[in-house]
Amino acid sequence: MRKTKIVCTLGPATESPETLSALIATGTNIFRLNMSHASHDWVRAIVPRIREVARQTSANIAIMMDTQGPAIRTGTVATSLNLKPGDIIEFTVRGARSEEQYSVDVNYDGLVDDIAEGDVVLVDNGNLHMKVLGKAENRVRCEVLTKGVLGSRRHINLPGVKVNLPPLTEKDIHDMKLGVELNVDYFALSFCREAADIEVMRKELRRLGSDTHIIAKIEDQHAVQYVKDIIAAADAIMVARGDLGIECPMEELPIIQRRIVKLCLKIGTPVIVATHMLESMIINPLPTRAEITDVANAVFEQADAIMLSGETSVGRYPVACVEVFDRVARRIERSGGADFASGVPADGPREKTAAAAVSIANDFPHSKIVVFTFHGYMARFVAHLRPRHAPIHAFTPDERVCRRMALWYDVQAHRMKFHPEPDKNVFAAEEALLLKGLATSGDHLIVVTDIVEGDRRHASVQLRVIP
Ligand code: PEP
Repeated sequence: MRKTKIVCTLGPATESPETLSALIATGTNIFRLNMSHASHDWVRAIVPRIREVARQTSANIAIMMDTQGPAIRTGTVATSLNLKPGDIIEFTVRGARSEEQYSVDVNYDGLVDDIAEGDVVLVDNGNLHMKVLGKAENRVRCEVLTKGVLGSRRHINLPGVKVNLPPLTEKDIHDMKLGVELNVDYFALSFCREAADIEVMRKELRRLGSDTHIIAKIEDQHAVQYVKDIIAAADAIMVARGDLGIECPMEELPIIQRRIVKLCLKIGTPVIVATHMLESMIINPLPTRAEITDVANAVFEQADAIMLSGETSVGRYPVACVEVFDRVARRIERSGGADFASGVPADGPREKTAAAAVSIANDFPHSKIVVFTFHGYMARFVAHLRPRHAPIHAFTPDERVCRRMALWYDVQAHRMKFHPEPDKNVFAAEEALLLKGLATSGDHLIVVTDIVEGDRRHASVQLRVIP
């Protein structure tokens, strides 16, 4: 069994039931809907389709709705501008655009206040570099530094600039309403800059009557600065290397990734490494050696999940990409990991119980850990400790908790109605594992469950052998 989970972004290349089914069969655990591109009609069609394919294939699949967030974009230009070094262009706000000069509107009125002379402006995924020469009331004057084309609705990055946009736009809130209605399992918060941004999303979700988990995307320097607080406040983290690689000096990116993954493993927050992992497979059937090594690195770091974006949303070989992820992850997991979670303190009694289970499992090479969990907490802590070889089988009566666990490292989630007598649950779990071919007679099971004494329940760890 693979411990590292796989996230696939859906799009025109992968929306058919047949492809969804193939992606699940190959090892996808989470489907991501990117609200920068997805329409509401499309989302309304794809969510029930995913649920249906997951049901038919008996797969535990989670759905992540990734908000667009407070992205700054160029407005509409009648014809794209071919820019060359030395050209002067103005970014205008509040409709100050002038037809005679190189000038383009921007969707954020505060741009002029936030930016300063000498700042760098990057457009269209960093393809076009500019430097700010000066600003007036409604315009920012820039010198073009690299050759490139400037078109409509291109994404603008301002490395190191603290942008005063709210954490959620009206569009995000509108999209979240739909996500709550369709019962998605995760919301990803784009351009999360500090822990307070997560609270804003949580509050909005509560207002919508939802406790859906939040994945904070780390994608600019400000987020990197406050990453420890963000990791502590979020339900999961995404190292969003697409924007992060534009917003930060490129040589810092591997260091930032490692630091974030390490901190997540110390604190116990699930973490996804995302973007450009198999970029060349958007058009090629095989990855580059460098891409394989990049995937291997994230698996070695023991990130909870690795993510595909354009490779599966618009790429030519989406299923092959998942095959590559699966193959590389399985092989690297066998070779050992970075063990960033080693020495994590088990503070409370429940954590100590989970730590005892992992410690026993590590002494039995063919053991399996079985956890009974209502809210997923115990399963998450066991996963946090990164058992050396034992897979974690988490049983829960709650459908939403079950799907949520699809993201967590090494956790295979199973839905089961709980019996009031914990022993009966253990027998039922054994039976389920045997039936699914996930365990055989003679296997050691390390069971984390309650034992009942009159009206008292005690957390316990049991070492059992399947008869
Ligand atoms: C990224 O920047 O890496 C990312 C995942 O975000 P998006 O695709 O929404 O830009």
